[in-house]
Amino acid sequence: MPCEVKPRFVVLYGSQKGQAQSIAEGIAEEAEAYGLVADLSCLNENEKYNLEKESAPVVFVVSTTGDGEPPDNAFQFVKSIKRKTLSTDHYKHLCYALLALGDTNYANFCNCGKTIERRLQELGAKQFYATGYADDGVGLELVVDPWLKGLWKAIKESLSKMASDGNAYLKKIGASVPTDSKFASVASSSASAVSDLKPAFPVALAASLTCSVPPLCESSLNVPALPPAYLDVSLQEVDTVEEIVGPLHKETLHHVQISKAVQLTRGDAVKTALLLELDISAYPTMAYQPGDSFDVFCPNRAAEVDHLLHRLGLQNQRNHHVTISLKKDTKKKGAQVPSYIPQDVSLLFLLTWCLEIRSVPKKAFLRALVEHTRDSTQRRRLQELCSKQGAADYNLYVRDPSLSVLELLTAFPSCSPPLTLLIEHLPKLQSRPYSAASSHLRHPGKLHFVFNVVEIPACSGRPAGRRGLCTGWLFDLINPGVVFPGKAESSSSPALPKIHVSLRPNSSFRPPPDPSVPFIMVGPGTGVAPFIGFLQQREEERQKNPKAVFGETWLFFGCRHRERDYLFREELEGFVSSGTLSHLKVCFSRDHREDEDTTTSAACPRYVQHNLLLNSQHVTDILLRQNGCLYVCGDAKNMAKDVNETLMEIIKTELQVDQLEAMKRLAGLREEKRYLQDIWG
Ligand code: FAD
Ligand code: NAP
Repeated sequence: MPCEVKPRFVVLYGSQKGQAQSIAEGIAEEAEAYGLVADLSCLNENEKYNLEKESAPVVFVVSTTGDGEPPDNAFQFVKSIKRKTLSTDHYKHLCYALLALGDTNYANFCNCGKTIERRLQELGAKQFYATGYADDGVGLELVVDPWLKGLWKAIKESLSKMASDGNAYLKKIGASVPTDSKFASVASSSASAVSDLKPAFPVALAASLTCSVPPLCESSLNVPALPPAYLDVSLQEVDTVEEIVGPLHKETLHHVQISKAVQLTRGDAVKTALLLELDISAYPTMAYQPGDSFDVFCPNRAAEVDHLLHRLGLQNQRNHHVTISLKKDTKKKGAQVPSYIPQDVSLLFLLTWCLEIRSVPKKAFLRALVEHTRDSTQRRRLQELCSKQGAADYNLYVRDPSLSVLELLTAFPSCSPPLTLLIEHLPKLQSRPYSAASSHLRHPGKLHFVFNVVEIPACSGRPAGRRGLCTGWLFDLINPGVVFPGKAESSSSPALPKIHVSLRPNSSFRPPPDPSVPFIMVGPGTGVAPFIGFLQQREEERQKNPKAVFGETWLFFGCRHRERDYLFREELEGFVSSGTLSHLKVCFSRDHREDEDTTTSAACPRYVQHNLLLNSQHVTDILLRQNGCLYVCGDAKNMAKDVNETLMEIIKTELQVDQLEAMKRLAGLREEKRYLQDIWG
């Protein structure tokens, strides 16, 4: 776990009538709102602070009394810093800001503050924020308020500067340092030994995308070799500005109308599932079978492209044409100009339709970015992230949260890569496949598909969450034209747009050609999509051939809440009523969690595989005795793996065989194409 300790600073006050104290207390109280911790002390409480070793910024608030005298509770402090024996570098490590309170109606205005300031400077301390001289004669607030307003930025900048100075110093002397780029409180101390410096790191830093903690920040690094550059890219101004209207090679794709958009989930569901109907009647080559999927071609988000152009300093060249050629002297083996980058398209088109600008930067890309990063702390962090030693941090801060190059460039502001580097390292913008969730027999000329709007949460390096590229784009395209089930469709619904698609037939994930073969379908969440197609097709076939023999069908479906995300509930129950679906086994993974103590819920299976286990005998009968088939669709990362494990367990138990034999049986089923998966993740 990262250590979540806030950066600290020190507030010291000397106050006669309480005004300076009250201002100092206000600063300390407000610190939290700025993500900081203030150590507040009165100047005479010298057991509570130690300026000789203080590495954090120090804020003094002092008033003046009498004829320019220090307040009583600052008297000793002022006396102590006036000692002639102190050397001129006594406070060399100290960073301070000072607010002096006084009254111009009296002699020696702000004298205490001025004395402290003069001595601090004589002793080598550095001012991090201009001193404020507030005059009670005209109203302290005239100076105090704006001074306080600017203080927070100054403290943060000071913390940041101290961190990098401290790091640079320590690196120079070979010591290891935390590399927080923002608020690390480290000393730029003149102490001569590392051991002297250690106590000057009182702040434990929170590890983040831009900041590492020991041991990584102390480690020497094995950094990959710099990937050789291989492209020459030039931009040419053109006379005519082209309109960005669609993907590459759009003439080979189908531009189909979205004819319906229905939200399948309730507003309070964990994920939002939508069903889109496409009108494919004009495209015979889009004729599909249940089990097929098709590709949706979506652009990168305009705002992100725009942001990236600005970040690359190319906002004024967005309409320039890009020419790419192979670097003559490149050392990259087998280097080629990427086939997915056409010649003579505009920079805007290139970033909108050709490159996956949200792809997670690979370590080689990070390595190349190091060369274009000015700030040494940021360079070090990028080196860490691509190093062998930083593999865990790379996974945690880059790979797992799916950080994009734009997010990375925002987090590392001194990194300014050339366009060429992005073109060399960003992969092709991929189309997104979706399973057909309909049968053309039930819906001639139409194709249905269902998807969850992917929500990618905020993380270190991404202040706000974002939606998946394609699902977020589709979501925006169809709103406000979405229909909610149970609500009457309005004849004045806004027109829905067209999208570019192409079919990608699947030759094996198909219902058994012989209708008498029994089969089992496992599809939680949107994984149910192809099975809706299977069942619609089967229902139509049953109606056409009432005398034909149809084998048993089983569907194992799972979702989170019965009332919120039970996709296709009515249609599935209808299949059961008509006899098209022999057994519908549904589980709700989060319903029973909420009332766990009740006896009924305790027995409730949570996931599809638990229902498979409850029906082990039928599963083995169908698969191993009746030559039936089993289909799994949906999430590959967890669900499909767990279902596979469960099938092994079922085979072991039901057939009384060992692990190896169960594996062989399952592998045999795969080979015979009787255990089929269409999974993603
Ligand atoms: P992207 O922008 O591509 O983002 C998705 C990526 O974001 C993930 O790969 C992951 O790296 C990352 N991510 C997601 N959640 C998080 C998180 N919490 N934290 C960090 N990173 C995260 N999908 C359907 O909904 N319905 C279907 O019928 C369907 N059929 C498919 C059929 C096939 C053959 C295949 C291969 C995939 C299918 N998919 C289906 C998946 C679909 O193609 C898309 O991948 C999916 O919709 C997400 O696309 P996107 O562009 O919105 O998300
Ligand atoms: P989901 O997030 O997978 O959740 C559906 C249900 O599965 C929830 O009740 C969830 O429960 C449960 N679940 C979680 N972990 C599980 C596990 N280890 N084993 C079994 N069930 C588990 O549903 P979804 O969002 O619709 O996701 C389906 C995935 O499949 C998506 O990524 C989608 O893109 C993909 N998909 C692929 C294809 C394809 O390849 N042809 C087709 C359609 C969909 P909890 O959340 O309560 O744990």
